Amino acid sequence: MIHRPRRLRRTDAIRSLVRETRLAPENFVLPLFVCPGTGVRREISSMPGVFNLSIDETTKEVAAAYDAGVRGIILFGLPETKDPVASGAYAEDGIVQRAIRAVRQSTPQMIIMADTCLCEYTSHGHCGVVREGEVINDESLELLAQTALSQAAAGADIVAPSAMMDGQVGAIREVLDREGFENTAILAYAVKYASGFYGPFREAAQSAPEFGDRRAYQMDPPNVREAMREADLDYSEGADMLMVKPATVYLDVLSMVRERFDIPIAAYHVSGEYALIKAAAQKGWIDEERVMMETLTSIKRAGADIILTYYAREAIKALTK
Ligand SMILES: [Zn+2]
Repeated sequence: MIHRPRRLRRTDAIRSLVRETRLAPENFVLPLFVCPGTGVRREISSMPGVFNLSIDETTKEVAAAYDAGVRGIILFGLPETKDPVASGAYAEDGIVQRAIRAVRQSTPQMIIMADTCLCEYTSHGHCGVVREGEVINDESLELLAQTALSQAAAGADIVAPSAMMDGQVGAIREVLDREGFENTAILAYAVKYASGFYGPFREAAQSAPEFGDRRAYQMDPPNVREAMREADLDYSEGADMLMVKPATVYLDVLSMVRERFDIPIAAYHVSGEYALIKAAAQKGWIDEERVMMETLTSIKRAGADIILTYYAREAIKALTK
């Protein structure tokens, strides 16, 4: 007798019956870039279909996304002005804080996440306080905690610290609890690599560092045992969910984090991963929908419960058609 796995691949219906991994609209979180002004809807050249949106346009975008089936967004901000201590990151009337309030009002059911970092708001473009060319960890923690607190106060359901400062999750949890935001959840960018795949995002968020790079705080791509240590630390500091970023070139890491932790795991399908598919599709070299779905499925199969992706709406459309 020969074994015949092909029996279960014969028809669409049978393949669907035995399918092991299924994407669902609830899996996706849509990142949005909020900028100053009104009526602004500026496409990011390296990320076709992704825009810098003023707050009024953001609320429209969020309402449309909700109608399309998106249940979660994550907000990034482009402030009017930047300074060395990232004042715009934790200002009560900061760009993201105002956007959170506006979205909370216009689409109250949407899950609102806020990226908690300083690099979009610092004049030097680094994720923390800089002194003599170095990012100072513990001083940065205070500013990150203030940022998270202001985002929670504005109405964010989830804050997502992404600076890769040691102790950031603990510092944020402590301030949130002390100030009465014990129900605000933390999605920790626990394993964030110093990756070349962030290139298009830097155009989108205008956050390229003025000098040097982020290798002194983001993780070195060849390391995986260190990733487990980073995830352990964030878990023990009180993270409710752990993220791996980028996604597709770190599926092995994602899968190891999945096996090791029982809390929800997220993966960020980053700007460069999105741009690669878009560019090849625009050249007619690949079938965009097919490659998009195959890519997102691989991220879920590797262990992600939650996928942050610029493809959120298109993926839901493909799932529900
Ligand atoms: Zn940052």
